[in-house]
Amino acid sequence: MITEKPVCLTGASGFIAAHILRELLANGYRVRGTVRKKPENYPYLLSLPGAAERLELVNADLLADGSFDKAVEGCEYVIHTASPFEINVKDPQTDLVDPAVNGTETLMESCRKAGSVRRVVLTSSIAAITDEPENNKVYTGNDWNTMSSLERNPYYYSKTLAERAAWDFIMQKRPGYDLVALNPPLVLGPSLSPALNTSKLMIRDIMTGEYPAIMDLNWGFTDVRDVAKIHRLAMENRNASGRYLCTAGTLHMRDLVGMIAAAGFTGYRLPKADLSGKIGTALITLLSYTKPKNVGKYIRTQIGRTMNCDISRLQRDLGCDFMPLEKSVIDTVEDLVRWEHLKTT
Ligand code: NDP
Repeated sequence: MITEKPVCLTGASGFIAAHILRELLANGYRVRGTVRKKPENYPYLLSLPGAAERLELVNADLLADGSFDKAVEGCEYVIHTASPFEINVKDPQTDLVDPAVNGTETLMESCRKAGSVRRVVLTSSIAAITDEPENNKVYTGNDWNTMSSLERNPYYYSKTLAERAAWDFIMQKRPGYDLVALNPPLVLGPSLSPALNTSKLMIRDIMTGEYPAIMDLNWGFTDVRDVAKIHRLAMENRNASGRYLCTAGTLHMRDLVGMIAAAGFTGYRLPKADLSGKIGTALITLLSYTKPKNVGKYIRTQIGRTMNCDISRLQRDLGCDFMPLEKSVIDTVEDLVRWEHLKTT
């Protein structure tokens, strides 16, 4: 389905987007990536194979009306990844919700005005599905997070509102293109850029003593290389539609820590004490009130819970396989060392 028309990729500088860019270039696409600084600030994008011939970087900001007009001009496919991903912010409204929601609406309107766009692929998140998973439930694309707010897990709230805004736009404005939303959990894997994004920061925190003990926490993971491929497939596949949960698997914190220790990463402050039993959980819940507000809330809504996801639609419609989680975790740690985000103590 390779087209001479460029694919627009918003937030091209980001951890996930840089991999989507590499995937698109490797598959012969022309790409117009949006960034916030001058192109020379992104050598890791400009040096990707195929970039010299088929990559153009243009400026756009989620908070500026009409900012994406030029970026989407003449494009048939638009992949929208740009959105702030932070857990601890000063002002959730201005730091998270405004850029996520206004940016999505602005982009959707630019695509409508362009007239050439056939599909927008939106990088949503598991955060838009739930922020407090029920253990006995299997989540699907029919589930929506209805509990987050500016006070409670505001990043989750921003992702939920942004995805809702995108679907509302499609329903109300009938813009002449369709929307496919992807809902990955925590995304791991090697970074193409020197920056440390929030999901990899979590692994670093586990290795640097920020988590004093093993807790009863379960995380869903998917590797960034698989996520990038899923974005391409969601763009290319005519039958793709609606929302796709993209979880490769789930790991308990105990198994995650065990995996890293077994791979021989010594000299770091991996948690040793196991507080994942009942008494430990009660203690951690109590201690969570001493943590920054958003961190404490996150712990209290996740502890003791596992999110089970139905990914059969993803497998059926997009036919994608996932790499083993262990490889993804170990590649992540090696990459943190390579970029010097992790130093031995
Ligand atoms: P990054 O922080 O690496 O990337 C975020 C991107 O958004 C950057 O390109 C950033 O630009 C851009 N951005 C932020 N604010 C603005 C703004 N005001 N105007 C224009 N661009 C802006 O995060 P990830 O790559 O991890 O995440 C990318 C997307 O994937 C996000 O939508 C996130 O919610 C979603 N996601 C991520 C998951 C993960 O575990 N990593 C899991 C599920 C979903 P700049 O470089 O200039 O700051």
